[in-house]
Amino acid sequence: MKKVWIDGGHGGKDPGAGANGLQEKNIVLTLSLEIKKQLERDYEGVQVLLSRSTDVFLELSERTEAANKAGADILVSIHCNAGGGDGGFESFRYTSASTASRSLQNVLHTEIMAALKPYNIIDRGQKAANLHMCRESKMPAVLTENLFIDVTTDAAKLKRQDVIDALITGHVNGIAKYLGLKKKEGAAVVSDSVNVVVDGKQIKDGKLEDGVTYVPLRAVSEALGAKVGWDNKTKTATITTK
Ligand SMILES: [Zn+2]
Repeated sequence: MKKVWIDGGHGGKDPGAGANGLQEKNIVLTLSLEIKKQLERDYEGVQVLLSRSTDVFLELSERTEAANKAGADILVSIHCNAGGGDGGFESFRYTSASTASRSLQNVLHTEIMAALKPYNIIDRGQKAANLHMCRESKMPAVLTENLFIDVTTDAAKLKRQDVIDALITGHVNGIAKYLGLKKKEGAAVVSDSVNVVVDGKQIKDGKLEDGVTYVPLRAVSEALGAKVGWDNKTKTATITTK
């Protein structure tokens, strides 16, 4: 059984960054809870432990002591950024991080950026810093900074469910890949709603089944400038582009 420690930053009297009607402590709690739910639902042999599952305040030392005591295999600390500029996503390892921490950062960062691909989010890179959560954790540890709360373009994205879902998917995929977790039998047939965007225009949702994405034919075809004909007798859809 692999143990994953998810540390949702801030909480209680410490709201973290706040701007544009958003509070960091709430976003990171949502991400933490959903990452735990999806990892344990979709993968075998994994237990996800949380620094906090409610809006409570914890000292940094309490978080790392609990994770070390639990003997977690990896730790991911989840935050949102602030400080202006152009916004984007970045991740941190400790300044003298182990090879394992570097590897965790690389896999996690890559999977998160891949999940964020449809949303034009700036990749600020894989960074190193002397952060308590990465320094005091005995296991490979990475801290993710999930967009800038005080940058209006990033804040608008953080208010979208599909962007939140992409951040969750990226963390789940990265953790599963690093730990080599096996998908549960049947997990792949779960039908998930898929966000469909044609030339920047949002189309009705599609769905994912067994790795194939099904999209609403008429909506997508018309967005591409094609005409759709339908013969109800033979159940034939005809797409004409000329
Ligand atoms: Zn933070």
